[in-house]
Amino acid sequence: MPKGLTRMNEAREAQRKEGSGGRGNRFFRLPLPGDIGTVRVLDEPEDMEWAFVHVISSAPFKQEICLNQEDDGDPCPGCERELKRRTRVWTRVLWREAPKFKRDEDARIVKGANGKGIEDGTEDTVAVWEFGPEVADTIARRHAKMKKGLISQDVVVERIGSGKETKYEILPGDEGVSNLTATDKSLITERDVDLKQFTLAPSYEEWGTDRREREDDREAAVSNPNPFKRVRS
Ligand SMILES: [Zn+2]
Repeated sequence: MPKGLTRMNEAREAQRKEGSGGRGNRFFRLPLPGDIGTVRVLDEPEDMEWAFVHVISSAPFKQEICLNQEDDGDPCPGCERELKRRTRVWTRVLWREAPKFKRDEDARIVKGANGKGIEDGTEDTVAVWEFGPEVADTIARRHAKMKKGLISQDVVVERIGSGKETKYEILPGDEGVSNLTATDKSLITERDVDLKQFTLAPSYEEWGTDRREREDDREAAVSNPNPFKRVRS
C-alpha cells in the first residue's frame, strides 16, 4: 500500500509529467477473442505494481483503489459499500505495431463520430498492461520457463474467449532473445510511464471521484497559495 507524502508527491510528479503534452496513458488491450498482440514486457514480474481495487461501475467501467490494502481495518468506502474487491497488476510494455491514433496539435487523440479514436496506421508504443491474477499466473509460469526471463524477448499475447472465460496465452515471439534496439530505448525514454500512479490511494473523501479532476484541483490549490499567508515584505 503506498503510504506517506513522499510517495504521494512522487506519484503526483509522475502524473504531471504524464500530462505534459496531453499524451495520457496508452493501455495494451486485446478487445476481441482471437486478437493477437506482440509486446516486450518492460518490468520484471517482481517489479510490477499491484493493488486491491473495487469495481464502482461496469458501464462506464470505473474502479478505485481499496483503502484497506493490508486488511488492517483502514476505513474504505468500497469495503463499506461491499463493492467487489479484486487484485489488479500493472506493468509497462512496448506494444509492437499498436493501433496508432490521429492526434491534434496538443497530442490529444482525435475522436470520430462513434466517440472512439480514429486509427491511422500502427506504431510501436509504450503502453500499460493491466491484468488480474489469472494473467499474473500465466506470466509467472511463462517467465519461469524462459531461460532469460520474460523481458528478454518479445512475446505474443493471444486473447482466448470473452467475458469471465477470457484467458490470455503468452508465447515467445519468433525473434527469440534480443536486446532492445536504440529506437526502442528512445521510445521508452520518451513515453515512459510511472506505474505508481495506478496504486496511488485517494483520501477517504476523494474516493471514487475522477482521478484527473482531483489532480487538477490539487494543482489549482498549489498555484493559488493562501494570500493571507504571503510573506510580508
Ligand atoms: Zn476497500
